[in-house]
Amino acid sequence: PYTYGLYGTRTTLELAARIAELEGGGLTFIAPGGQAAIALVDLAVLKAGGHVLIPDSIYGPHREFSDRWLSRWNIRAEYYDPTVGAGIAALLRPETQLVWCESPGSVTMEVQDVPAIAAAAHAAGVPVALDNTYAAGVFFDAFGHGADFAVQALTKYIGGHSDLLLGSVTVRDEAHYLALGDAQQLLGMGVSPDDCSLALRGLQTLGVRLDHLQRSTLEVAQWLQAQPQVLRVRHPALPGSPGHEIWKRDFTGSASVFSVEFDAALSQDALVAFIDRLRLFKIGYSWGGTTSLVVPQFSLHRNLPRAGRNLVRFNIGLERSADLIDDLRASLAQLPA
Ligand SMILES: *Cc1c(COP(=O)(O)O)cnc(C)c1O
Repeated sequence: PYTYGLYGTRTTLELAARIAELEGGGLTFIAPGGQAAIALVDLAVLKAGGHVLIPDSIYGPHREFSDRWLSRWNIRAEYYDPTVGAGIAALLRPETQLVWCESPGSVTMEVQDVPAIAAAAHAAGVPVALDNTYAAGVFFDAFGHGADFAVQALTKYIGGHSDLLLGSVTVRDEAHYLALGDAQQLLGMGVSPDDCSLALRGLQTLGVRLDHLQRSTLEVAQWLQAQPQVLRVRHPALPGSPGHEIWKRDFTGSASVFSVEFDAALSQDALVAFIDRLRLFKIGYSWGGTTSLVVPQFSLHRNLPRAGRNLVRFNIGLERSADLIDDLRASLAQLPA
């Protein structure tokens, strides 16, 4: 029953129940954002002296939290190759308390073999948490593929209009639920019911938005792949993108973000000018809203050499794909071929 706002109002609990159903899980907590949802899992599960395995393709602030905060509690974060699959077994230690997955990875877009990773982790008694934001809880069945915690930034597709910040953690296991509930209450990670009502409204159009975004994103990504200045498009549904075969096996669709590796011979100044000339694409880090966005990811190369020096991330919005392609064509025409 309702007792106190921090523990959930009727609106909050309604959103939680719908996210639980969407994710195919049992119980959901709503957090103040995706990053808060990630921290909530860590703070509920990890203990001093522990070890957590994280793919090196993880969302940037997640990595920073692990490096700069978990280390304060004497918890060691170790980064693994996202394509490791069953090879994760060799990285598990007696003190490993959690394995994170994010599939596809932020920006570099590697699709992970979550079932293989989960099987190896479970054999060692270690739970698996998945950042399922890309799939919106729709295109990937987190629990069916072995995850114990399914996290989403509701800020992205569920909100859908770039005007709210919320996150969710969904679990099936009662012990995990109790640990999360304890952490959420003691940390005071409550959310505003007004934000939740916006997320509930976003859910009403999630299906049509994802349908449209999937189609137009593929059109734009395929067009870009055919351009002479483009080395490779990292989009899970395109052959040649890392983990494409696993995507075909495990996912039921693809979403609106992808990254483009431009020819290494192009200068970053030229690419920045290309981005600045775009008219429909705004510059921005977030994604999953109505507006197409672009952001250079040149510095990622420092941590992840395989990302290449000329990586640019795109998010496709609800504009007509033909208009977006016209915009890209006009600006690309001024880039050296
Ligand atoms: C945006 C994002 C987050 C963080 O969500 P916020 O609501 O902005 O805190 C976490 N994971 C992924 C994959 C994201 O893209």
